[in-house]
Amino acid sequence: MGCNWTIQCLYWLPIYFHSVGSKSCDNICNLNIEPNQISSVSLQLFINNEWQDAVSKRSFPTINPATGEVICQVAEADKADVDKAVKAAREAFRFGSPWRRMDASDRGLLLSRLADAIERDTAYLAVSDAVPFLILECLLSVCVCMCVHRYYAGWADKWEGKTIPIDGDFFCYTRHEPIGVCGQIIPWNFPLLMQAWKLGPALATGNTVVMKVAEQTPLTALYVASLIKEVGFPPGVVNILPGMGPSAGSAIASHMDVDKVAFTGSTEVGHLIQQASGSSNLKKVTLELGGKSPNIIMSDANMAEAVEQSHFALFFNQGQCCCAGSRTYVQDTIYDEFMERSVERAKSRVVGDPFNMKTEQGPQVTNTEQFKKILGYISSGKREGAKLMCGGGVAADRGYFIQPTIFGDVQDGMTIAREEIFGPVMQILKFKTLEEVVERANDTKYGLAAAVFTKDIDKAHYISSGLRAGTVWINCYDVFGVQAPFGGYKYSGNGRELGEYGLDNYTEVKTVTIKVPQKNS
Ligand code: ADP
Repeated sequence: MGCNWTIQCLYWLPIYFHSVGSKSCDNICNLNIEPNQISSVSLQLFINNEWQDAVSKRSFPTINPATGEVICQVAEADKADVDKAVKAAREAFRFGSPWRRMDASDRGLLLSRLADAIERDTAYLAVSDAVPFLILECLLSVCVCMCVHRYYAGWADKWEGKTIPIDGDFFCYTRHEPIGVCGQIIPWNFPLLMQAWKLGPALATGNTVVMKVAEQTPLTALYVASLIKEVGFPPGVVNILPGMGPSAGSAIASHMDVDKVAFTGSTEVGHLIQQASGSSNLKKVTLELGGKSPNIIMSDANMAEAVEQSHFALFFNQGQCCCAGSRTYVQDTIYDEFMERSVERAKSRVVGDPFNMKTEQGPQVTNTEQFKKILGYISSGKREGAKLMCGGGVAADRGYFIQPTIFGDVQDGMTIAREEIFGPVMQILKFKTLEEVVERANDTKYGLAAAVFTKDIDKAHYISSGLRAGTVWINCYDVFGVQAPFGGYKYSGNGRELGEYGLDNYTEVKTVTIKVPQKNS
């Protein structure tokens, strides 16, 4: 049982490599990875293609959540640094600048070269990414990150406008133009991936970027910054700032010279970002926020698959996924068997050293508050009458490890069924009918993702059209294609990332109308 995640990962890696079109999965798993390689990641701010200390000269620690020890100090950006970075990004966006004059195909070439450099440094990036995460999952992240850049490289010279047959003697066409200086604020749970999801479409469409990376996970973003410079992006096109949310993040969100902000993180901060836009320059805002995603298991589902995929849906990345399948609805006739098998699977989950390839679950992110919050949700589950089926406590005497935990007999109104836990805590709920489960699944403020397991195509269609969520998986979970959009309904956000839809977030549409004289005069 211990290598199930490995098997899952090995199942997906060839698919990604197929789209990357190069290394085999065997090669990647044999890479020589040394945790101490991490020491050479640059630790300053990246502004205008230069490494700089923060204006305040302040720095903050990056902590290894497996041990609680400080790994290094990283420069801490605040408002003054955001101002410098926005100035550089504005200058790089100036009409007539090298970036604005660059052919779209050359922008694509730069993104391709970035993907190549990431591929070359796969082992290094995976190790840096793995400070709070599993090495195997980080290898996967690096692969997906390459795919994202390669995918958007292809779009750079293909994002076309239209000619429009308006009435009268006119020729009318649209141009897809970059929005300008884009602020991007990313979370800690998939540092490399979130960076790629945001940079790829912004750069393919010709914008410039000021990115604030999460304070818990600044290292890989800084390394990618060095690759951005190496492959030849002009100064100021990409600026990377580690820093805190309330200072650096909010300075971006309220900046008068930032044209757009893209944010991934909590719904609470999403509200603040939206408000900051409203009370500053009405910059465009796209948000990818929280979720409480329903995962529906019908009685005719393949039991083994449904148990394994539901386990993966919740426990993947230590439960730290915005789209985690955190409300598992199981039809009453198979509830007992599903519960028994899920508990058995959770108990066999290998918790431990993130650098061991066999480990399935590492520590939670380096954030004492988040750690306590998860334990608080476990207490609330017990207090409110849910049945603790396994786990429920701390898994090691140092570091931020939590036992894989399952609650049964969960009711819709309980706190653990309503709020986003962001940890390895699974809620299993019982339902009887199709109509009932669709209604209950939609009874949440969120609408990011959902899944249904059934062999009946009619039921699958009925449920997937009834669910109010941006993504519905059928007989699978967490399957992301760089070509397919991802984003939320309701409090889970607005806008879509990835795929062709992701380009909309970074484009202004300009209508150009030309008078066409009908006679030679
Ligand atoms: P989480 O709770 O998962 O850490 P957050 O929404 O707090 O999610 O953080 C996501 C990102 O938003 C991080 O980069 C964080 O620093 C940033 N952030 C936090 N607070 C603010 C804020 N007030 N304004 C802008 N960005 C913020």
